[in-house]
Amino acid sequence: MSVNAPVKLTIKDYKSELHNDWCAGCGDFGILTSIQMALAQLQLDPDKVAVFSGIGCSGKTPHYINAYGFHTLHGRVLTVATGARLANTKQTVLALGGDGDGYGIGAGYFVGAGRRNVDFAYLVHNNNVYGLTKGQASPTLAKGKKTKSMPEQSIQDGINPVAMAIASGYTFIARAYALEPKYTAGIIARAIEHRGAALVDVLQTCPTYNDLYTKEWYEGADLPEKRSRLYKLEDQGFDGKVKDPTDKQEIIAKKSAAVARSYEDEPIPIGVYYEIDLPTYEDEVFRRIPDLKETPLVEQNAFERDVNPLLEAMR
Ligand code: SF4
Ligand code: MG
Repeated sequence: MSVNAPVKLTIKDYKSELHNDWCAGCGDFGILTSIQMALAQLQLDPDKVAVFSGIGCSGKTPHYINAYGFHTLHGRVLTVATGARLANTKQTVLALGGDGDGYGIGAGYFVGAGRRNVDFAYLVHNNNVYGLTKGQASPTLAKGKKTKSMPEQSIQDGINPVAMAIASGYTFIARAYALEPKYTAGIIARAIEHRGAALVDVLQTCPTYNDLYTKEWYEGADLPEKRSRLYKLEDQGFDGKVKDPTDKQEIIAKKSAAVARSYEDEPIPIGVYYEIDLPTYEDEVFRRIPDLKETPLVEQNAFERDVNPLLEAMR
């Protein structure tokens, strides 16, 4: 190898040395590995990646990734990730959180982030429970279901994250499975490369509190021929990508098809449900303030900016 050959980054370059205290066998390990594999696949410099998280077991994920990290507030990860991304548009931004964090307390921010189409990837560790607080039902647990940590069946119906994301305006929407890291890494890499707000809802096992949706259940250990309860959308020829983003009929057709698939259960579809290239929030910021494109806010000296035109406009 020549002395000047670029160093190839591997999964080890994205591992931190902090002690991991997730329960043994937790699906979060699979998601962590998938993220590190995706970063290695894209050869992203750890200095150019920032990982934000909400509160919950998944909130610890940035601690275990060698990149910039910020463990934020319950349900507020998308607001912090949005601010960080707009302050430094040269940074790759990942946001992470659980289903309780993102689809429960953070539901309003979830909708707002989709509407804005800020360029980041949001990965939701969806295990149907609030794991960190001992397994209460999360917003994705269906009515009538009862995990071992619940005294009674859930009396409310579960929400559908994919349909919520379609309605909110996310421009890349996918679902993955935590215990299939290679496949999940490919989906995460696509979400990172996508320009705009990307959601990856990752089905995650919680062996401590969720005894319904276990590895054995997802992988169909109890079914004839151990048939998996998951299937890949692309294996059935499904293509969620909008070819012409100006064609309203095509957009409606693709959204409708994605929503219809998202309500299928047993087998559950994983893969990319919907994808469209649309202008991002950053594009609009750059149109209004062109110099931010070359020099992000973090590299500018706010005290040197002439604010008089702004003050004049506000008179
Ligand atoms: Fe994972 Fe569940 Fe343990 Fe949390 S409580 S670390 S989600 S197994
Ligand atoms: Mg959860």
